Amino acid sequence: MAKDVAKDVAKEAPAQQDLAVAEGSAQEPEEAFEAPERGSADELLDAGADSDLDAMRHSAAHVMAEAVMDLFPAAKLGIGPAIADGFYYDFQLPRALTPADLETIEARMTESSKADHPFVRRELPPDEGRAFFAERGQPFKVEILDDLAARAKAGGSPMPPTSLYEHGSFVDLCKGPHVASTGKIGPFKLLAVAGAYWRGDEKRPMLQRIYGTVWESQEDLDRYLWRRAEAKKRDHRRFGIQLDLFSFHDVSPGSAFWHPKGQRIWRTLEGAMRELQERRGYQEVSTPILAEKKLWQQSGHWDLYADNMFKVISEDHTFGLKPMNCPESTFIYRSRLRSYRDLPLRLSEFGRLHRNERSGTLSGLTRVRQFIQDDAHIYVRPDQLSAEIEGLLGEVREAYSWFGLEPRFAFATKPDKALGDPALWERAERLIQETLDRTGARYVVKPKDGTFYAPKIDIYIDDALGREWQMATVQVDLVMLPERFDLTYIDEHGQPQRPIAIHRAIYGSLERFIGILLEHFAGALPMWVAPVQAVVISIADRHVEAADELAGVLRARGLRVEVDRSDSRMQNKIRVAQEQKVPYMLVLGDREVEARTAAPRTRAGEQQAAEGWDALAERLAAQAAQRSVN
Ligand SMILES: [Zn+2]
Ligand SMILES: [Zn+2]
Repeated sequence: MAKDVAKDVAKEAPAQQDLAVAEGSAQEPEEAFEAPERGSADELLDAGADSDLDAMRHSAAHVMAEAVMDLFPAAKLGIGPAIADGFYYDFQLPRALTPADLETIEARMTESSKADHPFVRRELPPDEGRAFFAERGQPFKVEILDDLAARAKAGGSPMPPTSLYEHGSFVDLCKGPHVASTGKIGPFKLLAVAGAYWRGDEKRPMLQRIYGTVWESQEDLDRYLWRRAEAKKRDHRRFGIQLDLFSFHDVSPGSAFWHPKGQRIWRTLEGAMRELQERRGYQEVSTPILAEKKLWQQSGHWDLYADNMFKVISEDHTFGLKPMNCPESTFIYRSRLRSYRDLPLRLSEFGRLHRNERSGTLSGLTRVRQFIQDDAHIYVRPDQLSAEIEGLLGEVREAYSWFGLEPRFAFATKPDKALGDPALWERAERLIQETLDRTGARYVVKPKDGTFYAPKIDIYIDDALGREWQMATVQVDLVMLPERFDLTYIDEHGQPQRPIAIHRAIYGSLERFIGILLEHFAGALPMWVAPVQAVVISIADRHVEAADELAGVLRARGLRVEVDRSDSRMQNKIRVAQEQKVPYMLVLGDREVEARTAAPRTRAGEQQAAEGWDALAERLAAQAAQRSVN
C-alpha cells in the first residue's frame, strides 16, 4: 500500500512529466531518452518487449550488440532493452565511441539484418549458464546471474535455468521475446551515445549507452526523425534564452528565475484563469508554503512522501515546504460550520509548491523542484457531483480552446486497493461516466488506474508535433481529505454529513504548461499571451519621438509594446523582432510620421496596409483581447 500511496501522491499533479529532451544546460540542450534506470536483477533482465514493435526494438538491440562485439571483441555487455521509440545497449569499451563508430555499427547491423539470422532460444543449467558468460569475459552478465542465484537461495527455491538468445555468432543472456529473425527488423537509425552508470549506481562503472530507433516502415522512421529534429529546434529551454523569458541558476536548481517577459506570460495565463474562476464562482485563497510536520503526518505525506519534501527546522519544530495544497485547503473549509447550502464551495489557489526531485533528473521547466499550480479544491454534496463535473469539463474545454487545443480525457477507475465505501465508489464512478457521456467528451476508460482514494479524469492534449501530453487531473476524492481531515457539513435534517472533495488543476504546473506552449507554438505565442505584442520600429533617429508617441497610443489600449530605439538599420530591427516572435512590427518613416499612420508587418512576414494610429490601436487591441490562436 505504501508504495501505491506515494505513487498516487506524486501523480496528483503530473508536473514532472518529461519533454522529449532532458538534462543539459539551457544553452545547448542535450538529447535524452525516456528510459527509466534499471537496478534490480529483474529490471536488468526485462527486455521491455511487451508488444510486437517492442520485441523488434529489443531485437535491434541484440543486433547492435553483435556489431559492437565485432568492432570491440573485448567489449563488456551491459543490458539492451526496448524503450519508448527505440532501444539502447550499454557497453564497457576500451575507448569513447565517435560518430564514425556509429556509422560503422549501423552498416554492420544492416549486414546482419540482410543475413536474416533466426533468433534461437536456448537454456543451460544454471552453473553452465554462469560459466558460459564467465568464460566469455562478461562480468555484468555474471553479476546478474549471481544476483538471481542469491535470491533463489534466500527464497529456498531452485535457480531456474539460464535463458539465452542466439542469432548468428551472438549470444545474450535474455528472456526474450524476439522477432523470428534479424531480417524482420525494420528501418533503424542509431541516434546518440551517452554515459550510463551500471545499474544506475554512480559508484559502479560508467558504461557507454548507444541509443537507436527502429520502426516498421521507412515512413514511420522518417516521421519520427522529423519529429525529433523539430522537437530539438523547439526546445523550450532555447526559447527561454532567445526570448529572454527565464533562466536557471546553480544557487536554486530546478527553480526558474522568471525574467520580465516570462513573468508577463505567467501573469497573462494566471489572469485568464482567474477571470474564468471568478465567472465560475471560485473563491481564491492563499495558504502557507511552510507547514509543521504534524500537518503532513495527518495528511499521510510524512509517512509516504517525506523523501520528496524539503524540510526546515526552526525553534525545535520541523516544518515541510508544501508539495501540494490539499491539506491546508481543509483548514479554510473547517474554519466555520458548513451547511448544505454553502456547497459547492470552490476554493482556488495559485499555490507555490516544492518537490525534492533528484538534481540529476531536473530539466528546464518540465522537471522542476518549485512550481505553481492553478489548483482548486471543490467541496460538494454527493448530489452535486454530476453537475460539478460537467462544469469542470466545460472549464477545461474553454481554457484549452484559448490555445486552439482540444483536450482528451481518460477516466481512471477504482484500483484493487482502494479506501472507502464501495457503494460510494460505484455511485461516483457511474456519475462521472454518465457526465462524460452526456457532455460528448472524447475519453477512454483506464480500468483500475484511479488513486486509492479517488476515481479521476486525466486530461491530455496532442501538440503540434503529435506528442501526447498529460496535462492535469480532476480527482473525485471520496476519502482522503473528507476522512483524514474529518470534513462535514450539516444537511437539511441537521445531521453532519461528509462532503466529497474534488481536486482539480487545469493548466497543472504553470511552469510546465508554459514549456509545452513554447514548444507547441515554436515560441510564437498567440497574440493574447505574447509578452510583447508589437514593436515600433523607427527608421531614423528623427522618428524616435513619434515612435514613442505611437507606443503610448497602443499602450493606452492595453497593448504590450516596445520601441526599438537602437541605431541599427530597419531591416535588422525587423529581423530582431521576428526572432523575438513579436506578432506585429510597426515601421515609422517620414511618410508615416507625417500622416500619423503605420504599416504593420506580421511575424509571418505579411505586409499589411497602412492605418491611422487610432484605428490600428483599436484593431490590435480587439485582437489581443480575444483568447484564441490568432
Ligand atoms: Zn533479448
Ligand atoms: Zn489537491
